[in-house]
Order: sequence, then C-alpha cells, then structure tokens
Amino acid sequence: MNKLLSGISASATVSFNNLASRLKSEGKSIVSLAGGDPDFDTPEKIKASLVRALNCGHTHYCDVRGLKALREKLSFKLREENNIMCSEKNIIVTPGAKYAVCLAIMAVAGEGDEVLIPQPSWVSYEAMTRLGGALPVGFPLSVENGYEITRSLLEENCTDRTKAIVINSPNNPTGHVLSSDEWQTVRDFVRDHELYLISDEVYESIIFDGRKNISPASFLDISPRVITVNSFSKAYAMTGWRMGYLCASEEITDVIATVLSHEISCVNEFVQYAGITALECREESLMMAREYERRRDYLVKELSSLEGFEAVVPQGAFYLWVRIEKNGMNSEELAMWLLEKAGVVTVPGSSFGKGGEKFLRFCFAYSMKDLEEAVRRIKKCI
Ligand code: GLU
Repeated sequence: MNKLLSGISASATVSFNNLASRLKSEGKSIVSLAGGDPDFDTPEKIKASLVRALNCGHTHYCDVRGLKALREKLSFKLREENNIMCSEKNIIVTPGAKYAVCLAIMAVAGEGDEVLIPQPSWVSYEAMTRLGGALPVGFPLSVENGYEITRSLLEENCTDRTKAIVINSPNNPTGHVLSSDEWQTVRDFVRDHELYLISDEVYESIIFDGRKNISPASFLDISPRVITVNSFSKAYAMTGWRMGYLCASEEITDVIATVLSHEISCVNEFVQYAGITALECREESLMMAREYERRRDYLVKELSSLEGFEAVVPQGAFYLWVRIEKNGMNSEELAMWLLEKAGVVTVPGSSFGKGGEKFLRFCFAYSMKDLEEAVRRIKKCI
C-alpha cells in the first residue's frame, strides 16, 4: 500500500455520522448531533432548476473549471459580497468544498513543506496536508484567550519550511470568527513570510450577533497568495449535492484545472445549473442562519445549566464546543458514555487536534425537536 494513503485514519465527523445512521437503521433510539448536515431541505427553486437542467439534456461533460455561467456568477458574488477582485478565470468548481481544500493545499505545499493549522480545527486539514506529501503543523489556540490568533503563536510555529497556513472563520468546531485585528495579524504574518493562505469560508453565511465575515483575499497586498474556499452545502442546505469552489490567482487555477482534467473531467453538469439558482437564494439562506442562531441560544442555555458542561458561545457556524473536563472523563470516554447511556451522538473534541481533548462538539444544524430530545436525554442520564 502507498504509505501516504494507508497512514491516514478515517474522518471522525464522517465516522460518527455513519455510526449514528447505522445504529438508527438497526432500530436503536438515537439522537444524532454529530455531523454538520442541516436539517433543512434544499430550497424548492434549486431542486426545480436541477430537474429543468436534466430535462434540457445538460447531462454531459462541461468545462473542467466549471460552467462559465456559474463561474461568472460566483465571481460576481465574490466581488460584491467579499470584496475580492476576481473574474471567472479565478474560479474552479469542485465536487464539494472538501476537495477544494485538498486541491488548494496540494497546489501550494508538497514534500518537505510545512502547513500551519491553528487548532482546534476541522478534522480533515491534517489528513489532506499529509495526502499532498507535506507536513501539517497543528498548534493550539487557547480557550481562555477566546481562540485568538496572535503573532507570537504564529512565529513560534513558523520555520523556513513553512509554506502555507489554513484559516477557517467562522471556525468548525469552536465557532470563533476572526476579528479585523486578528485578520490584520494574519495578513502581516503571511506577507512578511511570503506564505500562502488557504481561507476556508464555508460557514460565512452562518454568523451571529450582527458580526461580518472578512475575506482575506480582499487584502490587496496578499491576495495573489490567498486561496478562498467556499461551498453550497451549508449556506443552502445542499450537503448531498457535493459542490464547492475555490478562488485563486490564475497561476494556481491553471495548475488545478490541469490536475482536474485527469482526475474528474468536471463536476456534474446539471448540479452546476442548480448552483446558479442557489446563488439567487439569499433570503432562504438568511432564514436558515437566523434559525441556527435561535438553536444556538437554546443549546447554549440548556447545556450550560448542566453540572460539568461549559459551553463556548459560538460566533458563527453551527457547532457548540463544550468544555467537559469537570466530568472526569476525556472527550472520547464522555462521547461513548453519552452514546451508551443517552443514545446521543456527539463528536469527541480530541478529533479536532490540539486543545480539543477536554471538549465535545454538538452540532445544532439539527431540528429543534432533536435538540430538545438530546437535552432531555442528557439531563436525565446526568
Ligand atoms: N464538515 C462537517 C462536520 O464537520 C461534515 C462532515 C465532514 O465533512 O467533516 O461535521
């Protein structure tokens, strides 16, 4: 076996999601707050657009970079909403944002290179970096400091092999949203060390308390070295459609397009037509974000009232990151205990890298009914 592949362990978020589905299909009474998959249905307009595309015969290969009409619409969105100077030539449509992150990391970091990953962080950045042959350098941010990224932490972990840094704001799993001061710190660091910055913005539409997302590709001094990744999954409840995209310099998109011409040829043509319609569903997306905020408030209040559970109030995304160390169990033990005693599936914090051992992640993209049932069960067994 190729050691790069066989050395990778399975995604914890996907594994816990699959575990919940398997137990449910075996007839067990399970409430899953594991994987980040919205309970909303994809808006009707988007589904109708896919059916229209199928009926019109859009069932063939198309441009390896993605439909020109979709890329034009994406570049318009990025210019208008994210202040990123770009055109359709800077866009690549991918089968899911996960693959966009993979391609972004592989495009800029290979053997002998290091990639900085502030943690806790989403479970797949490390594996993706390794798959590209580079070395992930995870370093912990502190909960006491509100998960702030500081220049000294960045410098401590930077070597002459550092090639790139991955930033995810709003963050999965902590819900932290980088402030403009933090972005300034990252911007200066990236510019001074001539690094690449992979900005994973898949939760940009799910942001609370009136906060605003900042896209670092809008900083002109570093923009040629920033790869912005985004997705349709979370904003429009389209996880199963598998469509994401990246925006980068033409030098980078040319390389990636060449790779994709061998690897996938293109993303499903009819799905991309639906993507064009999705970009017109701003209202629907805002409505979902408002509902996530209501669910956040509910779950924060309920879990914080429990002995031994300390919730970190998320500023964005749809995960609640809960400190559990007072329970006397580590994150894996407590996750298994909740599964066995309450039938509630969570994801252990240890899966999210350094600084995650004393936390559990609860996803609140599930229905209020599920959240209420999970809380009732957890209270009962505690
Ligand atoms: N990103 C979501 C999560 O963290 C979905 C699963 C995955 O792709 O990791 O739960």
